[in-house]
Amino acid sequence: MKNKERKIKVGEEEYRIRLVRYLKKCRNKKQIVAGDFSCKRNEIKIKNNISEKQKEETLYHEIAHAILYELGKYNKPIQKLFYNENFIDRLGKILSQTFKIRYLNKND
Ligand SMILES: [Zn+2]
Repeated sequence: MKNKERKIKVGEEEYRIRLVRYLKKCRNKKQIVAGDFSCKRNEIKIKNNISEKQKEETLYHEIAHAILYELGKYNKPIQKLFYNENFIDRLGKILSQTFKIRYLNKND
């Protein structure tokens, strides 16, 4: 993948998508961290040393976080779902089954 900047708009927010070598470990150390969503920096980070399929799955997972962040702005109960990784994983899978976004392909 080239180093050109990729962006995605989710609701009112635009996020920069960055491929990175390292990610900080999250609180749940049992899980392998492949991506990171930051609403403060408007940024989605994805590890670059994983397979293209894993990158796509991770992107959808982080997009699911972005959707829940957007919905949570106006709905307190939904804010809790933002931190529910099982829910986010499921939503990410549904998104990937629904859409075929190829943000991370090598040759585009
Ligand atoms: Zn997550």
